[in-house]
Parts: sequence; structure tokens; C-alpha cells
Amino acid sequence: MTTTPSTRFAPSPTGRLHVGNLRTAVLNWLAARAGGGRFVLRIDDTDTERSEERYVEAIRRDLDWLGLGWDAEVRQSERADLYAEAEARLMAEGRAYECFETPEELDLRRKKQRAMGRPPVYDRAALSLSDDEKAALRQTRTPHVRFLLSGTRLTWHDLVRGEEAVELSALSDPVLRRADGQLLYTLASVVDDAEMGITHVVRGADHVTNTAAQIDLFAALGATAPAFGHHSLLTGPDGEGLSKRLGSLSLEELREGGVEPLALVSMMARLGSSAPVEPVASLDGLVADFDLSRFGRAPTRFDPEELALHSARTLRGLPFEAVATRLHALGIPEAEAQAFWSAVGPNLDRLAEAETWWALCREGTKAAIAPGDEDFVETAWTLLPPRPWGGDAWSAWTSAVKAHSGRKGRALFLPLRRALTGRDKGPDMALLMPLLRRP
Ligand code: GLU
Repeated sequence: MTTTPSTRFAPSPTGRLHVGNLRTAVLNWLAARAGGGRFVLRIDDTDTERSEERYVEAIRRDLDWLGLGWDAEVRQSERADLYAEAEARLMAEGRAYECFETPEELDLRRKKQRAMGRPPVYDRAALSLSDDEKAALRQTRTPHVRFLLSGTRLTWHDLVRGEEAVELSALSDPVLRRADGQLLYTLASVVDDAEMGITHVVRGADHVTNTAAQIDLFAALGATAPAFGHHSLLTGPDGEGLSKRLGSLSLEELREGGVEPLALVSMMARLGSSAPVEPVASLDGLVADFDLSRFGRAPTRFDPEELALHSARTLRGLPFEAVATRLHALGIPEAEAQAFWSAVGPNLDRLAEAETWWALCREGTKAAIAPGDEDFVETAWTLLPPRPWGGDAWSAWTSAVKAHSGRKGRALFLPLRRALTGRDKGPDMALLMPLLRRP
């Protein structure tokens, strides 16, 4: 990218963000940060009936949690004047026109076209209405407004998909404003992108056709169109559409399920590209290495189980500084937190599990003793090294018990681990033992 990039993430606040939107957010954020540019959060709230403030707040909360900071925030609902002005210009130049068909009439027309084997493209009947006819229609109907597409073959170099071409004559002139007065996304988005100097738009492949119409609209408004990149859509692990499962893949649910934010971002930054999904220590690593051209057209499989594994691997690799605040919030005292993280971190799948291990350190637990091990453990207790326990306590204890009992290997170590922790598995005992306040 030669120009300093300006990108935007433009969610509609009509629901919660999910992994699908997140991919768009991450790629735009990275494109901006990788080029030292600007990332704008644009709230697409022109649909006043479906947009809700609680979703706007949820969007901000989700992005904050993920560490995807934005440099500016704009709301389409506050920019109606700009859109009206652009619409008026298009009208004056004959690139926008009023139509009076009802949805039922349009539907009927499309059915007829299909029956005759023709594509269901709007026939521009409204263009041949005389002023008198329009005036008469206005008595009983409110018009909607369409953009007059240029009808050319529109081409662009897509940042993800390569050369793209769309025959505009095969598309219906897009509606810019509905009969009820509501301005639609197509014009609002183009006006905003032009006005805010957006240089790169990354969005899902479901927008490819929109893009053709929008590039035509940029030209009609005398504006330079940004570069576009359309990432492929996510599917489930077996290639099925994700739409039905998106509820359970909302960022809020993933957060509550203990998914690491950095894991989520790094997965979205790499999935469907030629770069491997692997743990990173910070967002900076992803920024340094970002390259949109590594993504491909093929649908991208997303598997929640892979995310859980990637999240666990990411968490275990986090340096203490990255988790210090969260350990503190779990009540782990600062003086012990770092040693605690070294001992327990490599064993966690989710950070919340640290709480259980901290409870064990603080309060101890009931020893788990397998049948037949009762005497062995009873003697072992008497051989515990004197406190305070340091890094050599475990080896001192196991050596003493070994010498006394003659046991070795698993038969020696497992009962001792179970005696101290009540479990078969867990952190490195040499690191954990100095943290145990009991027995
Ligand atoms: N609000 C639109 C959407 O969520 C934005 C699309 C775009 O990026 O232009 O689909």
C-alpha cells in the first residue's frame, strides 16, 4: 500500500458482533495499523427500526475487549444532511430518479420476467413517466429513489480476489431511498467513504455486487473510489453455512466462554490465508506481518473446537505482564503472582481455571489416596521437608520418600502429587510446591 491507509469497520447495530463480522473488523484494523494509518468505527444505523443503542454499546465493548482500538467514531444517523445533499446532486444530474411502483407491483413484474426466462432486473419504467403522470401518481403514492447505473462493464482489482468484472446492465438500479423516506446503506456508505477519505474497504464476498454499484456511484459523485478487497465467507467445519450458528458464536458468548481475545484476533487475522494460525504474544506481531494478498477466494472453514485449542495455546504462551491485571482481579496477591503464573499458566485452557489452582495454593485440598497407597502416603507426610518450601522442596521430598519406600517413577510421584493436589494431573510440582500454604 503506497498511500497511508484509512479503513473503517461499519457494523449495523442490529445485533451482536460474531466471528463473521469480526473477520471484517480485524482485517480492516490490521490494514490500517500495518500502513500506519487510521481506523474508523462507523455505526451504520440508518435503519432506525432495527438499530438499538445497546448493540452500539456492545460493539464498542467487544472491540475494546479485543484491543482493536479506533481513531474516530461516526454514526450514519447523524449524517443525514450529507446524504440528502448527495442525493439532490444525483437528481439534478439525472443520475437518480423517482419511482412509484409498490413492492407488490415490483414483485409481480419480477415473477413475469422470470417466467419469460429473463433476469429480474428493474425495467426503468419510471424513467419514461411524464411530469404530469408523476404529479398524478404523487397524489396517492410517495416515490422511492433509484440510482441510474451507467450500464458499463465495471472492473476493479480486488485486493483479495484479483481482477473482478461486473456487467452493470445485469443489475437493477439500486434503491437509494425508500418510499418511507429511509435512506439506504448504498448511498450513505459511498458518501461516508468519500467524505472520510477511506482508502481501503475490506468486507465480505457477499458485497461484491454492491461494490460494482458503489464504484459507479463514486464516479457519479465525482469521488475517487477506495480500493476494495472481499474476503471469503466463513463456513462451519464441514463447509456448512454459519448463519444458523452465529448466535452461539457471538463475541459476547465467546468472551463468557473464556476465549482469549488475542487468540480470536490472531485466528481471524490468519484463517483462510497462506499464513499459519499460531499463537502470537501480542497484536503487534500480527500487524508487522499483515498482507491481504495472502487471503484467497475459497470459503474459509471455521471450527469452534480449533478456536478453543488455539485459545489455550495462546494463553499458555502469554508472558506474565500480559495476564498480571487479570490474575490480580482473581485475587492472586502481587508478591506471588509471577511465580504462580510460571507454575500454573502452562496448564490452563482458560484463564478462569487459575482461580481453582489459587484456591488450592491458599487452602490446600483433601488428599486423593488410591486404595493400597494409604500407608505409603501416611509415611510420606512425615517426610515432608521443613518450611519454607523453596524450588527444591519437591525433589527433597520425593528423594526422601524414595529412599524410605524404595518406590520410583510413577508409583512414587503420582501418589505424592495426588496427596498434595487431590488430582492426577497439574502444574510442575517443583514450581507449585513453594506456593502451597497447606498442608
Ligand atoms: N453495514 C454494512 C454491513 O454490515 C457495511 C458494509 C460495508 O463494509 O460497506 O454489511
